[in-house]
Amino acid sequence: MKAGFVNIFGKPNAGKSTLLNALMGEKLAIVSHKVQTTRHRIKGILTGEGYQVIFSDTPGIIEPKYKLHEKMMQAVRNSLEDADLALLIVDVNDDPAENDGLFTSLRLKAPALVVINKVDAANKGKAEKAAAFFAGKSYCREVVTISALKGINIPFLFERILFYLPEGAPFFEGDEITDLPVKFFVAEIIREKIFNFYEDEIPYHSTVLIQEFSEKSTLTKIRADIIVQRETQKGIILGEGGKMIKKLGTEARKDIEAFVDRKVFLELFVKVRPKWRDSELFLKEYGYQ
Ligand code: GDP
Ligand code: MG
Repeated sequence: MKAGFVNIFGKPNAGKSTLLNALMGEKLAIVSHKVQTTRHRIKGILTGEGYQVIFSDTPGIIEPKYKLHEKMMQAVRNSLEDADLALLIVDVNDDPAENDGLFTSLRLKAPALVVINKVDAANKGKAEKAAAFFAGKSYCREVVTISALKGINIPFLFERILFYLPEGAPFFEGDEITDLPVKFFVAEIIREKIFNFYEDEIPYHSTVLIQEFSEKSTLTKIRADIIVQRETQKGIILGEGGKMIKKLGTEARKDIEAFVDRKVFLELFVKVRPKWRDSELFLKEYGYQ
């Protein structure tokens, strides 16, 4: 059994979403269009005979509106390092050197495949040239050329993905997957607000855990913990007299109500957990522990 996490990384419009769709086929479990801001965004879980691949992508911090400063790059790096394999997606018609600069700046330790996409929209020579360019890079284990849109070479890419994943038991049972989205999105919405409301390192040092999610007759009751690493961060999240968290809670509740399409009672707590590693929080969040 092969089981592991695959993180998809690439510039906007490289074809990440299209590739996910191609890989997931009909089984696309989770698609987020709203949320761009968390360290781990599970986009889909593909379970089959002898494998489970959990696809995620990185926060939308290489969108042009964001500056690529060091802290943000660190967040991308962290989420890539937590993965078993990184897929670095490049548009064959995009500037290879620029993409190389971006990939190099990640200083990846996890194995990475460079995936050259949109080969349907370029001549063969161009694709070959790009492949040769990336094949020589230190972060690149292997280059695979594909067309996510036309489905070219997708089965081969999937084969190579499995090759790099560790042996192990699946992380999710079949029926857990269907339970994932709503809770997942609720946590995402709260995280999105944290990104909107606070600056600097706060968003990257906080994690959201949904502690209660219960459907009452007239509303959905949700209790969530915002976990931070230091007391000072807790103070910032709360704001003077709890002003900030109240605002955050109101904004988050509105979005959650729109998402679940019913009234929501949202309780937020801020907790300091200096030693909890993100991956542990992450696992707990999805109920493995
Ligand atoms: P993302 O921003 O990385 O998620 O990129 P998207 O998956 O949204 O794709 C951006 C655009 O490129 C869309 O218009 C896609 O239809 C197009 N696209 C993606 N993959 C391919 C491909 O293999 N060939 C061609 N010709 N277009 C593609
Ligand atoms: Mg996309």
